[in-house]
Amino acid sequence: MRTKIVAGNWKMNKNEEESNQLIKAIQNEISTVNLSNTRVIVCPPFVNLSAASKTAKDSKIEVAAQNMHEAKNGAYTGEISADMLNSLGVSTVIIGHSERREYFNETDEVLSAKLKAVLENNMEAIFCFGEKLSERKTDNHLLEVGNQLRNTLFDLKAEDFKNIILAYEPVWAIGTGETASPEQAQEMHSFVRNVVAKNFGDEVANNISILYGGSVKPSNAKEIFSQKDVDGGLIGGASLNANDFAAIIKAI
Ligand code: PEP
Repeated sequence: MRTKIVAGNWKMNKNEEESNQLIKAIQNEISTVNLSNTRVIVCPPFVNLSAASKTAKDSKIEVAAQNMHEAKNGAYTGEISADMLNSLGVSTVIIGHSERREYFNETDEVLSAKLKAVLENNMEAIFCFGEKLSERKTDNHLLEVGNQLRNTLFDLKAEDFKNIILAYEPVWAIGTGETASPEQAQEMHSFVRNVVAKNFGDEVANNISILYGGSVKPSNAKEIFSQKDVDGGLIGGASLNANDFAAIIKAI
């Protein structure tokens, strides 16, 4: 059975105190929810990871990072290494979010190096990919996503996928209030699972969790999560509110 996952990407929101309060509020909301086979992950900004990890200790909530540099260490001002995250007990990290691709010029080449660094350091990646509106409108969404996957995943080994969670995030649906329809999400998730099966075998494809991200909210989560190849969600805006995030977790 594939693991279900609901992950919250807090982006550049919440100071340390607010971050701790939000974790406690989520924990409170889900304390009686049966989460067997389901992981709940929150991704606060770097500076709050240490405190957040302590707050979330012994709870149902895991703490992950939003980004990581690919180098071991060195003269990369403002960057954070795998070793630094590991030393805080943070071993899961989002790689390739569309905002990193767009605002920080993270190309497929850079993301491929980041993915390798995550895996070499025995960490886990939530790897994001997705098409832009123009690609969707011209019916090139499958082609574009196929290219992104080929450029970043195809030189990995089958066993690497134990430490990879995939997240399909159509760029046109992120933070826009626009959501892919359940059918659009299913079409893409099924396509991605087939791409993985073709290159790494059925076992890898059947076991990998593929999340949907893009304006998931309490009102649409159930319908999206009910799709056969959707194994959960990467949630932006709605993960900043404990009630909404808990409602999405309950929809899984
Ligand atoms: C995201 O940033 O990963 C995301 C899906 O954002 P939102 O839910 O706000 O669209």
